[in-house]
Amino acid sequence: MKKISAIFITVLACANFLIPITLEERINNLSKPEMQSIIEFLGHDLLEGRAPGARGGNLAELYVQSLCKFMNLDPAFANGYLQPFKLKGFILKELTVNAAGFELTYPEDVVGSFPREENEFQLEAGAVFVGFGITTPLWNWDDFKNVDVKNKIIIARVNDPGMFIPDIFEGKVLTFFGRWSYHIEEAIKRGAVGILMIHTDESAGYDWNVVKNSWSGEEPYLEADLQNNLKLRAWIKESCLRKVLEAKKINLDQLYEKSLKRNFKPIDLGFTIKVKGKNSFRDLTNNNVVALIPGQSEKKIVISAHIDHLGMTPGKDGPNIYNGAIDNGSAVAAMLLTAKILKEFRKGLYYTVVVLACNAEESGLLGSKYYVRNIPDRGNIIANINFESTPVWGKTSDFMAIGGQFSTLEDMLKSILEKEGLTYSYFSLINQGFFYRSDQYPFARYNIPAIWISAGENDDSGEKKYTRFWKTDYHTVNDDFDPKWELEGLKQTIKMAVLLIDHLNKTKEVPKWKSRLTFPLE
Ligand SMILES: [Zn+2]
Repeated sequence: MKKISAIFITVLACANFLIPITLEERINNLSKPEMQSIIEFLGHDLLEGRAPGARGGNLAELYVQSLCKFMNLDPAFANGYLQPFKLKGFILKELTVNAAGFELTYPEDVVGSFPREENEFQLEAGAVFVGFGITTPLWNWDDFKNVDVKNKIIIARVNDPGMFIPDIFEGKVLTFFGRWSYHIEEAIKRGAVGILMIHTDESAGYDWNVVKNSWSGEEPYLEADLQNNLKLRAWIKESCLRKVLEAKKINLDQLYEKSLKRNFKPIDLGFTIKVKGKNSFRDLTNNNVVALIPGQSEKKIVISAHIDHLGMTPGKDGPNIYNGAIDNGSAVAAMLLTAKILKEFRKGLYYTVVVLACNAEESGLLGSKYYVRNIPDRGNIIANINFESTPVWGKTSDFMAIGGQFSTLEDMLKSILEKEGLTYSYFSLINQGFFYRSDQYPFARYNIPAIWISAGENDDSGEKKYTRFWKTDYHTVNDDFDPKWELEGLKQTIKMAVLLIDHLNKTKEVPKWKSRLTFPLE
């Protein structure tokens, strides 16, 4: 291939006015302040953790909209950049779960949500253990066997059987069927009135604090996702469930044992669960911010990153703002700078590039879901390249595409990485189902090849700072802006994104699925 520098020469319209530089030089010259600025602002205390529909969340929308204007990106809609969507937000004020005589307290033993417009709620239903609660022809697995669990509270293991039996499902690699969001989807399909998902650090992939922090603020829902029978959506600590079951002389390990067999059937546990609590609720309007870099073709590549985070805990002593500087300020910076460079350096793109700053990701990928569900020309989207919690440390020797194994986007990226002297690697935290946990997933679910693109885990400090982030600071108040970050991983991520989009544009290739999909398609 001819050197990019020989073909594309343009002018950098700022400090080096009128000095022509190449695309490659522009990327290599990305300055630290340029990258820092976006992370620093989005991660600032004044944005109060950017909860959807909250003041900080609205400010983040406004900021990203302003940057899109500043960069001369086209608005995606006739009336501007904003795609409003309504959410119902629920805050759990009190919750007690009484099971077999034990009173489980919130948020130490159970956390969850009761998304019904009831200030005070009550629910009583029979408890049924459903194993993993998975039904899929992909591995010929059916935990329900058509047993009716309508109006029951089902108790389900999270993760999938592959975690324990390496030769079924994908072994230790978590499939979508192991994710909590799938267990809820299946509970809805089955007409259950509640679900208690059993938490262990190992099966969830994160500790109770992560569950607690993720579920204890306001829980927003798309209105379309509330038109069903499922009222209680909750997690229970395994140790608490064990106590409850012991009182009924039921051994949890024996239930687990049974749940690993293909002939498993739901087990009526012979007691009822009483749920009581208080809620507050409100309507929230928030927005995706969507911009375009028009190409010759109607076909589109969507680049995405979520702008929201977990908000704050008012009144809590000590640090109480979930700044989300890495999750997802760094990724928004990566997305916007990718767009900026494409806009400056690529006149006459073949594919139209859509810049999607989505909202309410932390609440269940709601903004990207809304976008994909409602876009009238969904069939024109050929690929989604998502940015999520982009590494902010030193240069890495490796690079990842989470979800790459499913599509030919991986092959395209691999060839680019080879030229750049980077190795292609898979995320070591394979039990966490990352592919299903960020905004690439709704695209994939709607049959659009999608990846989350990121510098790898091997940064030049040798300390694997990215891996450490996921284990210690992810979804805690420690995810805060640090001016000492080198931001080399961020720069590498931007570079690979630009080169991948460049490759797609030059070859006019349409990415295809290339392997068995371990998730259902809509
Ligand atoms: Zn995130």
